Amino acid sequence: MGMLIFQVSRIVASGQPLLPGIYKIPVRLSDDSDCVSTIFLPGIDSTKPDSPLVSVDVLVMEQNLSLSEPGRAVTTILADLKRAGSGAAPVDSSSENVGALITAYLTLLRYECAETPPKDNFWIVQRELRREGADICFDGSAFLVGSSEKIVKGSREPLSTNLVSRFDVLNDRDGLLIDRGALKKKSVFIIGLGSIGSVLASDLARCGVGSFAIADSERLEWGNVVRHAAGLSDVGRLKTRIVRDLILDRNPKAGVLEIPLGLESASLGTYGRTIESADVVICATDNRVSRLLCNRMCVKHHKKVIFGGLTRGAYGGMVFQFRPPETMCYHCFVTGFPEAAADRETDESEYGGGPDGHLALDIAPITNLMSKLVIVELQKQTGLVPNGLDTDLSAPWYIWINRREGEYVELTPLGDVSGGLKILQWKPVPMEKIEECPHCGVVAG
Ligand SMILES: [Zn+2]
Repeated sequence: MGMLIFQVSRIVASGQPLLPGIYKIPVRLSDDSDCVSTIFLPGIDSTKPDSPLVSVDVLVMEQNLSLSEPGRAVTTILADLKRAGSGAAPVDSSSENVGALITAYLTLLRYECAETPPKDNFWIVQRELRREGADICFDGSAFLVGSSEKIVKGSREPLSTNLVSRFDVLNDRDGLLIDRGALKKKSVFIIGLGSIGSVLASDLARCGVGSFAIADSERLEWGNVVRHAAGLSDVGRLKTRIVRDLILDRNPKAGVLEIPLGLESASLGTYGRTIESADVVICATDNRVSRLLCNRMCVKHHKKVIFGGLTRGAYGGMVFQFRPPETMCYHCFVTGFPEAAADRETDESEYGGGPDGHLALDIAPITNLMSKLVIVELQKQTGLVPNGLDTDLSAPWYIWINRREGEYVELTPLGDVSGGLKILQWKPVPMEKIEECPHCGVVAG
């Protein structure tokens, strides 16, 4: 059976009452028309006059609905749906449909709740209704129940219905989709939207971070796709635009500032202002010049910044965090460990990960730790950090090794530190601040 995914907010905005009537809502069809969806990615034009439509018949039921006896509630609902459906207009009989393609009919019943139902009862009723192809969701103080049919060669066939509540309901009542916590007031600035930055943006949106600035001047290329959060359908688009859509697709209420500029002298003003207003900065660029520029601005604005990268060939990676004023800055790090801080651009041609090409898996630990450090810092700023986690994750430098090769095993600058490295384990490296640093040192201060 095909499926209709219906977003209640497509009929009526958050906070507005749902009124009875017949609504024509633009839909998106999957290629084989198996799935009819009213969920659109932000930025996709859904208002063309020839858009396919779903016809929604909203009925406000007179009797309240009680879920205290789930079996009885299901029987009542199915009987009401059947009665409502039998009164629906026949296919294409309405002259107002001329010129528009009706692909599906949805019957939506609104019941006031007779009482606040136990959550378990709600899930039981929903499970039983879904077995019949219908669905139920909360809408403020009411329940919405829906069932749908699609039009195939002039006749109707049942569709499996999936109702998506209005976002305010999800936020305020269930908190199922988007974190309600203090993180929604926090902002991050992600510089570089490649294999690390794109995944971080998606991770942090899922964690409930409310405000993003994202910067990259490049467009997605074919060769990026195996390690990027976006897929082939996004090739050729600006990375800022792609990542904005990824964020909003996770959290439609997030704020996103796109900066399609590289970090260079001409854009320093824009970058400086954005760094100043961010709560945490993430530097995920692939060259040392931009990382040092970013470092200098973060020192100037006393801003926490997290750097992350892979070794050439992705046999390992590292995460470096600068917490002003107590830890060393990235300039200190480059001065002390020039090899470890070298450029890390990695592409498939130089990836030595074997025939399986599991580059994305070798990147995942790096993005995961960076996301964790960002979240812990944001929680710390709101005073809600989990028990001692900020102390546990306070090392300035973390090293990760995916397999036994390359500089992390062989290089001498790491000294006895490398002795503690193990495959697939993070190694925190304590480091003293360099007092003579021209940026963060005592002299500079
Ligand atoms: Zn420094």
